[in-house]
Amino acid sequence: MLLIVALLPFRGILSGRAGLVSAFLRLWDADPGPARREGRARPLCPPARPRYPGGMQGTDDSEGDHFDEGKPLGVLTVEPVGRILDYLAPAGGVRTGAFVEVPLGPRRVLGVVWGRAAGDWPVARLRPVRRVLDAVPMRAGLRSFLARAADYTLTPLPAMLRLATRAPGLMEPPAARRVLRRGGGLPARMTPARERVLAALEEEGRPMPPAELARAAGVGASVLRGLVDAGALLEEEAPRDLPFPFLDPDRAGHVLTGDQAAGSAGLREAVRAGRYSATLLRGVTGSGKTEVYLEAVAECLRAGRQALVLLPEIALTGDFLARVADRFGTPPAEWHSGLNPAERRRVWTMAGAGAGTGGVQMVAGARSALFLPFADLGLIVVDEEHDTSYKQEEGVLYNARDMAVLRAAIEGVPVILASATPSLETWVNAAQGRYGRVDLPARFGPAVLPRMRTIDMRAEEIPPARWISPTLARAVEARIARGEQSLLFLNRRGYAPVTLCRACGQQIGCRHCDARMVEHRFHNRLMCHQCGATEPLPAACPSCGVEGRLAPVGPGVERLAEEVAATFPRARVAVLSSDLFTSAAALRQAITDIAQGEADIVIGTQIVAKGHNFPRLTLVGVIDADLGLQGSDLRAAERTFQLMRQVAGRAGRADAPGEALLQTFQPEHPVIRAIIAGDEEGFWRAEAEGRRLAGVPPYGRMAGIILSSTDAGRVMDLGLELARRAQPLTRIGAEVWGPAPAPIARIRGRHRVRLLVKADKGAPLQQAIGEWLAQVRLTGDLRLAVDIDPQSFL
Ligand code: ADP
Ligand code: ZN
Repeated sequence: MLLIVALLPFRGILSGRAGLVSAFLRLWDADPGPARREGRARPLCPPARPRYPGGMQGTDDSEGDHFDEGKPLGVLTVEPVGRILDYLAPAGGVRTGAFVEVPLGPRRVLGVVWGRAAGDWPVARLRPVRRVLDAVPMRAGLRSFLARAADYTLTPLPAMLRLATRAPGLMEPPAARRVLRRGGGLPARMTPARERVLAALEEEGRPMPPAELARAAGVGASVLRGLVDAGALLEEEAPRDLPFPFLDPDRAGHVLTGDQAAGSAGLREAVRAGRYSATLLRGVTGSGKTEVYLEAVAECLRAGRQALVLLPEIALTGDFLARVADRFGTPPAEWHSGLNPAERRRVWTMAGAGAGTGGVQMVAGARSALFLPFADLGLIVVDEEHDTSYKQEEGVLYNARDMAVLRAAIEGVPVILASATPSLETWVNAAQGRYGRVDLPARFGPAVLPRMRTIDMRAEEIPPARWISPTLARAVEARIARGEQSLLFLNRRGYAPVTLCRACGQQIGCRHCDARMVEHRFHNRLMCHQCGATEPLPAACPSCGVEGRLAPVGPGVERLAEEVAATFPRARVAVLSSDLFTSAAALRQAITDIAQGEADIVIGTQIVAKGHNFPRLTLVGVIDADLGLQGSDLRAAERTFQLMRQVAGRAGRADAPGEALLQTFQPEHPVIRAIIAGDEEGFWRAEAEGRRLAGVPPYGRMAGIILSSTDAGRVMDLGLELARRAQPLTRIGAEVWGPAPAPIARIRGRHRVRLLVKADKGAPLQQAIGEWLAQVRLTGDLRLAVDIDPQSFL
């Protein structure tokens, strides 16, 4: 009786509130932000339990054994070989944790000495480690973290090691590099090109590598050579990774209010205690959470230790860096996908160098910053801890918030989880006393929380293909008249989510996925939000061939912008959607411009909901508050509540009071009512009770299994086989649902089938899943991914 029950139990949970309507069409178009969309990683290798002996699966408090030359030892490589490989120690010996280069077949690969040899190969046949790399050895804490995270997420350990070694050039010697600085001489003949070189160097105020200088001045190498020959430039050697400027924790910060001071005292105390603790820092948007946790960071820096602050959209928020610079005199090191290879390498290396002279004292990073080799980590902060982008949904499936808590526990340091709208998991942990809790009840200064109201769309007169109600339009008009800003929020990228042929009734779909193509008029293309495939807008329907009958259905932000331009012809309009910008820097600039008042109306997807500070913004209009409520996702209510409260929080952050208007067709819906009432504790309590009764997270545990193949029959057969052989799971009292075709049943030509496992909180879920999956073999192009604590059910 395990078959094809699929995800129905979850629909049951929500059915009282949200009905059974599948809203996947709506969910697809949510803007995942640039961080989620970039780089499709390789899928997981099959998680049949490989063996990683060598004593590292648990904790290892020593800094590791030393292996004399010729002694066998175990090396973890970044290659998916499924086991620790044995080698012989090189001349001079080597310690556990050392980065090494080892031969693997004909290749040389990167690895870390993981501990003793597995001993299942004859010593006579072992090859020696080729060389020990000139990098600070991986500390026991990080090794232990990787091993525990691999166990938790059922990820092969090499994939974890890859996350921890994402610095380019690790295998190259850290050669000094050549730089040019100003010399005393002057060339006999000055040319405009030569002048530009000297000016560029002056402006930069530091020695520069030749290539960089030539680029900055727009000259060729021969111009530089001429200046060197004349003594106007001097060549010298500099270390490849430049030191970081000093962050001074004792510069004066803002004077804290009473609540802020009390909260920060508690957090500073936790830092001073220097042992693991987890604290929820909860405060409405604009209450000063950032100010307060920066005081904890200051305490950590004072102790000479390193602080890590995780932010959901670090690539976008220049604002945070500027605030750190304000507080400590210079911005922190950044870690995110927007860094170039040299910057990545520098941060990685200098994090390992410690907080001392020139090392990294503070990293502001995206989720992968958790895997940096900090020499002496003293504090982790996870800002906007509820944010869904902390869950990595491709490649290694992990939740950075949970892994941050794990790393803090292993390193024995405090972790602060900050949010205005915490995840239910964190709220429950605090309610049950596992986490501490610090509350900032009020906005800072004269700013007050926005007034929130619904606009009942059933009572509004709106012409077809229009989405702004007269009530909302009047409110925007009033802001324009007062010189204030309005934000219109619609979490859908593109022009229209559906393109329909009025001749045959077909919607244009993706060739490779079970998904509709979304029109992006700005790029003049159709795009699949699942696989990223694009094609030009056809003149004729691809199904019936009739011309001129294709019509957009529904709004995306681009279409809303058209309506805004028609409705408010004199207003300056800015559209913020991640696909409209070619780089994170450009988007960052647009956000800065808006903060400085460069637009009257901002139209945005969820990237505008995240922590930005728009002082002149006093109105938030939510175009479709119902979007996202009707999913079969067990977190639909929680997500909508968080998103709506966050978006509303953009309004009225300075001295002008704000207002948030939610357009909805179901103002009596309990979630909408809770959003309006602002009774957050009440909402979390009710939500927690619902989850407890259903035995789902955080009161039970779940794991998703996603099977895929180009062969629809084989992938379903594999699912059925797994369902038949579920004894390892049923033995621990777990239930298995499925297999069933995934809601998006085909992506990139691969058919997808899901199973779902649900277990009691205390059950040894990972171990049972490991045994369960070890029974099947993946042949052909079958792939299997395990998603522990899934956040998405697509
Ligand atoms: P949150 O992180 O809770 O949204 P912030 O820390 O961003 O809140 O604070 C909101 C705004 O109020 C920021 O511009 C911040 O600089 C300012 N602010 C908060 N507390 C103080 C304070 N004690 N003194 C001066 N400015 C403050
Ligand atoms: Zn597609």
